[in-house]
Amino acid sequence: MSYAHELLNRAVSMNPAEFEFHQAVEEVMLSLQPLFRREPKYQKHRIGERVLEPERQIIFAVPWVDDKGDMRINRGFRIQFNSALGPYKGGFRFHPSVTQGTLKFLGFEQIFKNSLTGLAIGGAKGGCNFDPKGKSDSEIMHFCQSFMTELFRYLGPSTDVPAGDIGVGAREIGYMFGQYKRLTTRFEGVLTGKSFKWGGSLGRKEATGYGAVYMAENMLKVRKKALEGMVCTVSGSGNVATYTVEKLYHYGARPVTISDSQGMIHHPDGINLEVLKQVKEVERARLTRYAELCKDAVYVPVEQYPQGCNAVWSVPCQAAFPCATQNELNEDDAKQLLANGCILVCEGANMPSTLKAVDAFLAAGIAYAPGKAANAGGVATSQLEMAQNASMQQWSFETVDKKIKEIMLNIFTSMHDTAEEFGQPGNYVLGSNIAGFRKVADAMIEQGGV
Ligand code: NDP
Repeated sequence: MSYAHELLNRAVSMNPAEFEFHQAVEEVMLSLQPLFRREPKYQKHRIGERVLEPERQIIFAVPWVDDKGDMRINRGFRIQFNSALGPYKGGFRFHPSVTQGTLKFLGFEQIFKNSLTGLAIGGAKGGCNFDPKGKSDSEIMHFCQSFMTELFRYLGPSTDVPAGDIGVGAREIGYMFGQYKRLTTRFEGVLTGKSFKWGGSLGRKEATGYGAVYMAENMLKVRKKALEGMVCTVSGSGNVATYTVEKLYHYGARPVTISDSQGMIHHPDGINLEVLKQVKEVERARLTRYAELCKDAVYVPVEQYPQGCNAVWSVPCQAAFPCATQNELNEDDAKQLLANGCILVCEGANMPSTLKAVDAFLAAGIAYAPGKAANAGGVATSQLEMAQNASMQQWSFETVDKKIKEIMLNIFTSMHDTAEEFGQPGNYVLGSNIAGFRKVADAMIEQGGV
């Protein structure tokens, strides 16, 4: 049995029922096989086994009182996965579906994503099975304060610097930062995604979506194509989706879809960005509200999606940007995209495509960028926020945006060249996994058995 398969079996047997974690491990480990064959030192130093085991996992109760005076309890997590390259870094997710397995898959991916950015950041992820939907501002604040009351002792600017993810934006980061400051009496760069008025970075809000579009443009450039004039489909309607849509317009493309967990919008003339921001960032409403405001847009509720498919991916497009959540694009969706002539898939979300969907993209030879490469603009800008906090500076939007662009180009070059080095040009799954892993693994060997 190959070393990669041994590792996969180990991950499955040691972490039963953590299916998303198994999926992430399978994708990474199987694509590392050519590296393991070429460099036996990784097996000798048991890097595979070590990288599969989080350095620390914190699981805790989050008690809080709702507006009716009822006591509620949620389960909080912080998975401090790997610190070979720097302090732990990775977002918090607040969503009812959050489990230890979800956060382990996200934390595991984060190790290699952060490595690909070329910046000094280790991998982590955290969150809670708390559902922010329908909660009042006061409930969100009390929940965030309770969450931080337990977690603050494990965080610090050179220990662990969390950020946002699904369900965690500037409002939640603000409440958590306030509580951290109260408990520690320190105003320091312990969270990223902060408001620009008190230590945040310009460009952080836009970074993940913009970065995904920069990645798409880089992939198209080597194929002597460009986004200009392309019809694009985008899923999700949160932070990543919104700023993917915005940047697609900057490049002269036409994004025609957005979605949320209850349905999707198809707007053939192009998504109205102003309305999208009003509905999602200001009113925090559902997409039915978008359809009310844009009469020429079509709303399709999930109950009307074709059996087992995501209706977003049945809309014909040349480029697709999954920006909602994991496993939102399956093999049938992938086949539909390919049949409709899609030539590029660039993942704003983490692991949005199932393993079989990824296989279909690779077999078809289209430009496919996995999330750990395509959405790394977000964490990279978080590190830029840390750098600004540490030097007590605030950079202009243009400075930050220029750096994101450079970082995305570096990531593209790294995965592109690594795929060529291993004789599989254009296979950016292999390219990104090997490039990300190799740097972490070498650092672990140099730091000894810690
Ligand atoms: P948001 O909370 O801002 O938005 C999430 C969007 O995805 C919403 O439209 C939400 O719809 C939809 N969604 C969530 N869960 C589901 C589901 N089960 N089925 C269908 N739709 C769903 O999150 P972000 O935009 O920040 O994150 C989106 C993705 O990007 C995630 O995979 C995240 O891990 C990844 N990512 C985010 C980064 C960031 O900087 N924010 C950085 C790198 C990756 P609804 O409102 O109905 O739940």
